[in-house]
Amino acid sequence: MKIGPGTVAAIAMEIMGNTPDGSEKLFQKRDDEHPFYFLVGQVDMIPLLEDALLGLSAGDAFDVDIAMDQAYGPHREEQLSELPIEIFTLPDGGFDSAHVAPGKWLNLEDELGHSHRARVVTVGDATVRMDFNHPLAGYNVHCSGVVVDVRVATADERAHGHVHGPGGVHHH
Ligand SMILES: [Zn+2]
Repeated sequence: MKIGPGTVAAIAMEIMGNTPDGSEKLFQKRDDEHPFYFLVGQVDMIPLLEDALLGLSAGDAFDVDIAMDQAYGPHREEQLSELPIEIFTLPDGGFDSAHVAPGKWLNLEDELGHSHRARVVTVGDATVRMDFNHPLAGYNVHCSGVVVDVRVATADERAHGHVHGPGGVHHH
């Protein structure tokens, strides 16, 4: 089976970020025993990565470079935010210093109940400076790997726009 509309693909992949000045970081890596799963057309997929995978079958390798502007864009200063330190208070009234420390990633909920991933930059006396940029913002992205498996998406998966079962979203 080929990767195409209405399919779920399991992908072993290494995702690297490269900055224009030549620094490089490994963003994520999954082997064929713990692959990424994605539904074709899923909203959080990098469009050019999906394009590169379309038509491939299990066992096919791929190697794709995605320029910053086609991936997650530049690192934006306006995505940095000072949040009141009270938000990070534990039920016992203390500050959650185990989780809220520079470099740590947190899931924060907005007023609408949507979850946003953000990185702690600095912890001040009254505020915590958080960076809501995607971790690959400011990087050119290089993805390489091999297709592990391709299957037909279920009707539920197509209706929800994400993968269920192994490697998928568990919210049911
Ligand atoms: Zn679902």
